[in-house]
Amino acid sequence: MQSVEVNGRVFDEYVTSQEIAQSVAKVAERINADYAGKAPLMICVLNGAFMYASDLFKQIELSAEITFVRLKSYEGTKTTGDVKLLTPLYVDVKGRDVIVIEDIVDTGLTMHGFVKYLKEQGANSVEITSFLFKPDALQYADAEPKYVGMSIPTKFVLGYGLDYDELGRNLPSLYVLRGN
Ligand code: 5GP
Repeated sequence: MQSVEVNGRVFDEYVTSQEIAQSVAKVAERINADYAGKAPLMICVLNGAFMYASDLFKQIELSAEITFVRLKSYEGTKTTGDVKLLTPLYVDVKGRDVIVIEDIVDTGLTMHGFVKYLKEQGANSVEITSFLFKPDALQYADAEPKYVGMSIPTKFVLGYGLDYDELGRNLPSLYVLRGN
């Protein structure tokens, strides 16, 4: 098994780039079928989702658009989350069928806030595709992604766009923190 060291932590290879490609292709197939005849607006959440978004978008056979946003989530109270847009959303989402492209849904706080924001802005529909989903960590039901590349246990992962202290995003496979 291949491992990498990032900032003094050891990560073991968990999902190969070939397996990643297969799961991305399956998600693209489902989106192509579900959105046939529609023109969805895909919103990639930076930074982590850039690699997934790139691989996925190449396989979308719809008249789809893509735009990018950076989000920062914070806990308002114990039960309500909120999200701040660090970059503006340059495309009007009013009446649009939006598909949010995320790298990983963990507690769901970020997606909970962003979905709420998109609906307030008048999106016709909002669905989430997340390359990774940690179902056991989910705290916000409305943040559950409809199109999931892979469901994983609640462990810290790295690579394929996901970072550890901003490093490791360039790894083409997915790695998991050893002893996590
Ligand atoms: P949530 O708001 O769902 O709790 O967290 C989502 C964000 O937390 C992701 O977009 C990602 O930035 C970060 N995150 C959650 N789990 C992991 C993980 O296992 N590895 C990495 N690198 N980031 C994670």
